[in-house]
Amino acid sequence: MAKPNALIFDLDGTLLNRNAVFVKVAQDFYNEYLVNRASHTRDEAVAMMVRWDGDGYTDREWMRSQWLKHWPDTGLNMQSLEAWYRAAMVRNIQPDSEIIDYLTGLNHQRIPWGIVTNGPLSQRDKCKAAGLEQIAPFIIVSAEAGFWKPDERIFRNALNATGLTNPARAIFVGDNPVADIDGAKRFGMMAAWIRLGREYPPRLLPPDYTIDHVLEVRNLMQA
Ligand SMILES: [Mg+2]
Repeated sequence: MAKPNALIFDLDGTLLNRNAVFVKVAQDFYNEYLVNRASHTRDEAVAMMVRWDGDGYTDREWMRSQWLKHWPDTGLNMQSLEAWYRAAMVRNIQPDSEIIDYLTGLNHQRIPWGIVTNGPLSQRDKCKAAGLEQIAPFIIVSAEAGFWKPDERIFRNALNATGLTNPARAIFVGDNPVADIDGAKRFGMMAAWIRLGREYPPRLLPPDYTIDHVLEVRNLMQA
């Protein structure tokens, strides 16, 4: 396998430990809205929210509708809960200094890299809170691009942003088998999958590499 000339990263579950952030958000929700409505303990309520969250893969509206259904006395509605949720996600993000150091090093080595993330415009606020917007050569948010991974047009945009023309020279690093890995492979990129303790689904194009943490790509770049 050739050494890649450019790296493209997913955000949630890849450059960002979003499950850890989500637990903090669930705890905040309990403290702000549920603490005096004692139908569940804090641990029970957080466990329920984590289950509905499904590592961020369940439909976001559906997830929040579960919160309102199980705790109808918060004074929140779908709209105000969505605003609260997005703000809470952003304020619970902290930069990961090891990841920032690694990516800053790519900039010093003039290795092109960027971020491609599915989601609303507030993904940019998450990038900023994580210290990534300040250093990323490019960030593509699906809500701005008009295409969502695994649509090959968003991978095309990313490849163009790296300045490369051959997708086989770029590697996509992500945790979502369908959106990140199968999508990137169909477009002709290399792919590294962050497994997060899961099995890779058998019917999809497999990754070139399976890793447990994003910083393991350092080894691929030295190979
Ligand atoms: Mg992800």
